[in-house]
Amino acid sequence: MDNLKELLEKWYATEEQWNDWRWQISNRITNVDKLSQFVHLTPKEKDGIAACLKKFRMAITPYYASLIKSEDRQCPIRMQAVPNPKELVCTRGDMRDPLHEDVDSPVPGLTHRYPDRVLLLVTDCCSMYCRHCTRRRIAGQNDRSLPKAQLDRAFSYIRSNPTIRDVVISGGDPFTLADEQLEYILKKLRAIKHVEVIRFGTRTPVVLPQRITPELCNMLEKYHPVWINTHFNHPREITPASSAAVARLAKAGIPVNNQSVLLKGINDRAHIMKKLVQGLLKIRIRPYYLYQCDLSEGIGHFRTSVSTGIEIMENLRGHTSGLAVPTYVIDAPGGGGKIPIGPNYLLSQGQGKTVLRNFEGKVYLYTEPDAEEGKNTTSNLGIAGLMQSNDVILNTEEKMIIAKGS
Ligand SMILES: *Cc1c(COP(=O)(O)O)cnc(C)c1O
Ligand code: SF4
Repeated sequence: MDNLKELLEKWYATEEQWNDWRWQISNRITNVDKLSQFVHLTPKEKDGIAACLKKFRMAITPYYASLIKSEDRQCPIRMQAVPNPKELVCTRGDMRDPLHEDVDSPVPGLTHRYPDRVLLLVTDCCSMYCRHCTRRRIAGQNDRSLPKAQLDRAFSYIRSNPTIRDVVISGGDPFTLADEQLEYILKKLRAIKHVEVIRFGTRTPVVLPQRITPELCNMLEKYHPVWINTHFNHPREITPASSAAVARLAKAGIPVNNQSVLLKGINDRAHIMKKLVQGLLKIRIRPYYLYQCDLSEGIGHFRTSVSTGIEIMENLRGHTSGLAVPTYVIDAPGGGGKIPIGPNYLLSQGQGKTVLRNFEGKVYLYTEPDAEEGKNTTSNLGIAGLMQSNDVILNTEEKMIIAKGS
């Protein structure tokens, strides 16, 4: 950082403190007074932020605050970090728990939606509270990790369900826990034979890259395969510090994938999204998902239309490296899970023929094998089951019974 000296003076910090993640956490900006030292605020804005803080927390790490352009109200970093009175507005469709994470929870902290993987929320604490957070009903509520007794219940549940082969550890941000607490979780999960893959969802590489210490990486490495999903939303978040953090993870053999949220005025333009995904590949992060903004309360001003998202995807596929193209998904309200959406490339289908269009809109014909060839019989659920059977109608009741019995 070329302005490091200036920055350290502003924060009365030594370089060692600045690079220490615990210093970063204990010096977070959490009130209007402190914020006004770093971001230009009018009296009206101060009042609006103070009103917001009665309902939702603010916490901005000094590092992430240093990326804000103080005078620019449309600064994409500022918009993700600084509260906006619009958060107090309820928009049509808003829900407290749109993804039914609490409803689909067999034991506290655990969501079991898909057959072979679970989501484990190990803490409600984050290093920064993102204004657009989908889990804002939880994030920052008590600033505490899941009590050990509840963690142990979650492990028992996973242990007694041999279909679970993938555990997604999220929160809050699990990397706000100490290395020892993380290692406890990893040890317990690795002791379960059928758990193949362990994933962490953490935004620390973006908002607190100092957290990715060599010690943390050495510890994680012992429990491979460990994967990390992080959350970059804008090319300006790709900095020397965040790049170095990701390089340390890569060196420890941890593949890093990215889950962006489509945010109005932040990244809902094709050229910005393209710059983001290309920038991510340069630091060895694979763009994984692009989420349509959820229906959580008070984030209506961040939502953009699904057609905008589709247009952005149209501008990526074929126009840049396939590795840079994420899957655009809507996490279905009511707990339906992630549903991929995007431009249609399939124009028409007839007997043994499929008509397609490519990224430039040129039309092609693909001749298919006979219907019986290439058939596989691995799934009997849902549409996949319908395609394997001789039925002509999808029996949803039967499907529900199967789901309950499993
Ligand atoms: C997103 C999510 C997962 C993981 O989904 P993948 O598509 O495998 O990344 C698992 N459980 C829940 C509840 C989720 O929301
Ligand atoms: S880091 Fe994740 S859980 Fe925490 S506030 Fe941001 S989006 Fe929400």
